[in-house]
Amino acid sequence: MRGTPGLIRKINRSNIIGLIQKRGSLSRSEISRISGLSLPSVSRIIDSLIQEGILKEIGKGKSLRGKKPLLIDINSDHQYVFGVEISRKGQIILCNLTGKVLRREQYFPDPSQGPLSIANQLSKKITQLSHSLNLLPNKIAGVGIGTPGFLFKAGPLISQSPFFGWNSINAVEIFEKSFPYPVIVENVAKASAIAEKMYGYGKQFDNFFYIFTDWGVGGGFFTGGALYRGINGNAGEFGHTIIEQNGVPCYCGNLGCLEQYTSTDAIVREARSINKNIKDFDSVMNAFQLGDSKIIALIEKSGEILGKGVANIINLLNPEAIIIGGEIARKCPIYIQSAIVQAHGAVFSLEARKTPVITSQLGEEAVAMGMASEVISRFINGNPPIKREE
Ligand SMILES: [Zn+2]
Repeated sequence: MRGTPGLIRKINRSNIIGLIQKRGSLSRSEISRISGLSLPSVSRIIDSLIQEGILKEIGKGKSLRGKKPLLIDINSDHQYVFGVEISRKGQIILCNLTGKVLRREQYFPDPSQGPLSIANQLSKKITQLSHSLNLLPNKIAGVGIGTPGFLFKAGPLISQSPFFGWNSINAVEIFEKSFPYPVIVENVAKASAIAEKMYGYGKQFDNFFYIFTDWGVGGGFFTGGALYRGINGNAGEFGHTIIEQNGVPCYCGNLGCLEQYTSTDAIVREARSINKNIKDFDSVMNAFQLGDSKIIALIEKSGEILGKGVANIINLLNPEAIIIGGEIARKCPIYIQSAIVQAHGAVFSLEARKTPVITSQLGEEAVAMGMASEVISRFINGNPPIKREE
């Protein structure tokens, strides 16, 4: 491999940590064998990670003969992170360095309040959760926040959030003023995609497209094991691909965006035109369970439209798999089934028609889990979240 010695060391270090995260505790010689790195190199990197507090020795493993090897694992209590979702429903989770959730809280942010007020509320809840585990601020590696919006960039960050009505705000600066930890902010769909890669079916694939089907529809594309963010951090905006010329108006300013036919909001809007008693997506699901044939047809139709979009993704990217998560995927298998049938039928290449389309098994904490894992990986790979001076 070409590269400066510093870069190679960083890559090797990150590979070793990634191996332990994926497989659990391993001995130095197992790590050497699996990674292809020499035993002295592995030992040098591990010793330095133990000194930093990121890894620890955890007793002896099995050996058929000779000395039992010492196992190495993540030092889970070295630092803690918060993963947060701020959207219609808010979630806060407090995790250790292995991503284990130690505390969780739900809350309901009021979109009519400005970002500063929401940041202050969040700060109070984060402080309470830290106190519940007697954690001092120096034990918190950072806070990862998933929220709707676009124009998310690394460095000084600008976000536009049509849902909250926030425009051109520096969300990182606002949140960092409210609590003394490094902060990263990411779009909810990408945050969910990150959780899928770390904890869900995405573990099995290096090249997959994740679709978030919720009150909005979005996506995240993993290629070569890494999330593809695009030049400005806006890649994956699957929900705003246009599927109908002169179609339903979208809040983004266009007509006929896929999201306007396939999100919970779109389904609720259409369901209300059939049945005035429909209030929200749960009442749509109740009507569905009661066998309301018009509601069943509506959900199937919505799934079929999503399926056309899935076929477009498969044609464009030829991924190993498509994984669908979010509230609709969790609650409504018939929507996913309709999407799969449509997608496979509409894909151009016969070979690509076999692309697996899988329903995520992650629950409603996926966004917060994805953001916690993003903070963890930046911390343990030596890339702390955004620095204030940048
Ligand atoms: Zn749109």
